[in-house]
Amino acid sequence: MPIPPLLAPPHSTDELLRTLQQREEWFRAVFEGSAMGIAVVDMEGRFIDANAAFQRIIGRGADELRRIPFHSLNHPDDHAHEALQFRRLVSGELSSYQLEKRYLRPDGTELPVRLTTSVVRDGDGRPRFGVIMVDDLTHRTRAEEEREALEERLRHLALHDPLTGLPNRVLLAERMHAALDGGDEGEGCGTCAVLFLDLDRFKNVNDSLGHGVGDELLRQVALRLAACARPGDTVARFGGDEFIILLRGAGREQALQVAAQVREVLAAPLELGSYRTYTTATVGIAVADGTAISSDELLRNADMAMYYAKAGGGTRCAVFDRSMHRAVLERLGLETDLRAALSRGELRLFFQPIVSLENGAVVAAEALARWEHPVHGRVPPDRFITLAEDTGLIASLGAWVLNEAARQLAEWRATLAGAAALEVSVNLSPRQLKEPGLVEAVAATLGEHGLPAAALKLELTESSLVEDSAAAAGVLRALKKREVQVYLDDFGTGYSSLSTLHRLPLDALKIDRSFVAGMDGGTTGAHKGAEIVRTIVSLARSLGVRVVGEGVETSEQLAALRALGCDFAQGYLISPPLPPDEFAAAFLGAPAVP
Ligand code: C2E
Ligand code: CA
Ligand code: CA
Repeated sequence: MPIPPLLAPPHSTDELLRTLQQREEWFRAVFEGSAMGIAVVDMEGRFIDANAAFQRIIGRGADELRRIPFHSLNHPDDHAHEALQFRRLVSGELSSYQLEKRYLRPDGTELPVRLTTSVVRDGDGRPRFGVIMVDDLTHRTRAEEEREALEERLRHLALHDPLTGLPNRVLLAERMHAALDGGDEGEGCGTCAVLFLDLDRFKNVNDSLGHGVGDELLRQVALRLAACARPGDTVARFGGDEFIILLRGAGREQALQVAAQVREVLAAPLELGSYRTYTTATVGIAVADGTAISSDELLRNADMAMYYAKAGGGTRCAVFDRSMHRAVLERLGLETDLRAALSRGELRLFFQPIVSLENGAVVAAEALARWEHPVHGRVPPDRFITLAEDTGLIASLGAWVLNEAARQLAEWRATLAGAAALEVSVNLSPRQLKEPGLVEAVAATLGEHGLPAAALKLELTESSLVEDSAAAAGVLRALKKREVQVYLDDFGTGYSSLSTLHRLPLDALKIDRSFVAGMDGGTTGAHKGAEIVRTIVSLARSLGVRVVGEGVETSEQLAALRALGCDFAQGYLISPPLPPDEFAAAFLGAPAVP
């Protein structure tokens, strides 16, 4: 039966009505004649129409169907999953969905069907009807079963990470939707918690031991993480060295418990072929507590908490709260700005005098970077140096600092009598020490400004020496060979073993200001501080290196350092870090610039 054409323009109203009626009959015939069961439901889930095949498959007549809501046909275990899909369909997130499920026959037996559902919308895009098509799967053939098994395998591949076998992002998204499905409360109102895990220093393993070892590490970590999950939870690989643990129905306390468990399972050493190594993870937690939230937003929050925990040094756990949002966004903003800061000339060097405790003379100046941010004002180095390290900007920032310090020192030495023997101290971040060509770059900078190597001291923290102490020792020896001096900064706060210190060609230790601060006053704590300083000074003597007391704020501290035999002192008592012109005016006999 050909489809009756709609005449345009119709010759008369009668003719139009007749044609419409023919078309209606034609569509009805197609609908009724279809071997596939087709039903139309309204948005409240009531049956409006069902064809003969649908009635036969379901085993209920049209009238009966019209009296019952369509979900009452469902097997109770399949209901929640489909209800979620249907909501996603209505919201426009899906244009249709297909699933295999069970209906219940009137006698209560299960009826396996394959269902395809779509939505018909009106001109404004509002959903009007749902169209349901069902296939009876009771009598599927062997070939169909094989095809389904293959489909199942393909689906598994599409939803799992090949390396670890864990659920991938796609399956995670599905599970999150289901977990957030708040039943009667509506979508996004369920309770669950998300742990966003990032392995610390994974890149190091990959770079130094190779990708094969890196992969093995990820596999073993995946196994351990999977062991932390309860039935119903999901442990997924999010990408790279990032994992997600989704805890259904869990709150903050349970999430923190699992985070502690994760820390525990990761603490045991990993055997990676012939290597034995340790790994730790930084964890960000976000909780959906029943107030509407999308799965994307929840993941973003957990990611943000993780990022926040990383910024605080990593290997820790942070629970998302709104204030982080600001802190992290600010950091992200700064990251972009810092890239531009160098070229815009927003970075400056301040100088803080270092005096000899023997005769009080200013022997050196420590160069300390300052960032004059056009909007945020002066950003402290503790914030932008770590930022520069994390983003890789430290290389160019460090090169700038080194060059600017050398340039300033050369200018002072050439123009001011009081600066003829002045030396300058420059801080090196751990990353910089790892840069290939560092020694050559230092030598080139000195040469460019006509400075003797002895005029430059590089200050390193203990952490730079601990991570790869053999490589660090090599760099230090190369610097030593060129007569550049190396100072160990913030001494006492890191974890350098004293045995390593013996092997490193150091020129001086800078006693961390926390110990100096604990020296005066006469309290028990102060006594301890003095003890520590005494020990450090005698250690330095035995190593044959000099000692600088940092952060000297009172004359008592200064006197105590002198009494203990400390060589140099630095601190607010003598002077805070100053802009170059003020430093020159105060300590190098130059006229103060108005
Ligand atoms: P640091 O190397 O330990 O530098 C000494 C810090 O102590 C400076 O903070 C200085 O202003 C502060 N200070 C000096 N005297 C006193 C005192 O008497 N009392 C107290 N409470 N503090 C005092 P600043 O300039 O904020 O620098 C902080 C850190 O940032 C530095 O610690 C250093 O680790 C890093 N940094 C600064 N400039 C650079 C740079 O150019 N490169 C690298 N890699 N790191 C830098
Ligand atoms: Ca320093
Ligand atoms: Ca220091």
